[in-house]
Amino acid sequence: MKIRLDKYLADMSAATRGDIKKQIVKGMVEVDKKVVKRPDTKIDTDINRVSVSGNEVHYVPYVYYMMNKPAGVVSATQDKKEKTVLSLMENPRKDLFPAGRLDKDTEGLLLLTNDGQFAHKILSPKKHVDKIYFARIQGRVTQADIESFAEGIDIGEKKRTLPGKLKILSSGEVSEIELTIQEGKFHQVKRMFHAVGKQVLYLKRIQMGNLVLDQTLKPGEYRELTEEEKEQLC
Ligand code: URA
Repeated sequence: MKIRLDKYLADMSAATRGDIKKQIVKGMVEVDKKVVKRPDTKIDTDINRVSVSGNEVHYVPYVYYMMNKPAGVVSATQDKKEKTVLSLMENPRKDLFPAGRLDKDTEGLLLLTNDGQFAHKILSPKKHVDKIYFARIQGRVTQADIESFAEGIDIGEKKRTLPGKLKILSSGEVSEIELTIQEGKFHQVKRMFHAVGKQVLYLKRIQMGNLVLDQTLKPGEYRELTEEEKEQLC
């Protein structure tokens, strides 16, 4: 992969492209052990070795993380009023974004990457990647709800949702359920329950495709995906 020197370094650090350019012009950056002062120098990421103040900087084109999103933060890169998922990360790359959204009050599995193609693949409505949610529902969830969900639910759009697989874990004044859906429509789980007269009290995404939320991640914690996990998703 060929890339400009200033972009190479900006991608690999939390500094702005402007600051990076200054470092290059000052002579702090070497390519293959020679000082290079032009920010637009073309770097072959497979061949050239870049270092700043003597420290080698390896180029990693794409990164993939899973986060256990806590409630109270929005799935966005920036927000004028709300705290974002990116603000929970230490020195996140500037090109990182959440692949998909969870509502502010929803917890659980959220993917973050800088790989647009990967995000498109897993989010494309045509792909029908299963998403599994755990939820607490106000009131008793019944067999009739299971049947309604299996037929798809009218949530006020042109078409019903695709069939949802509803599993009742416990039923009472507050019921606990697991729901598998194939789409990712805005507020989909809440709207599906609303359509059968029930309210979601708590919602957590626990799985996407074969990728299961790492149980050891506390809310707000994150880690890189393993190669195997990445393959499971594509
Ligand atoms: N469905 C919802 O209603 N909210 C989410 O955050 C995700 C799915």
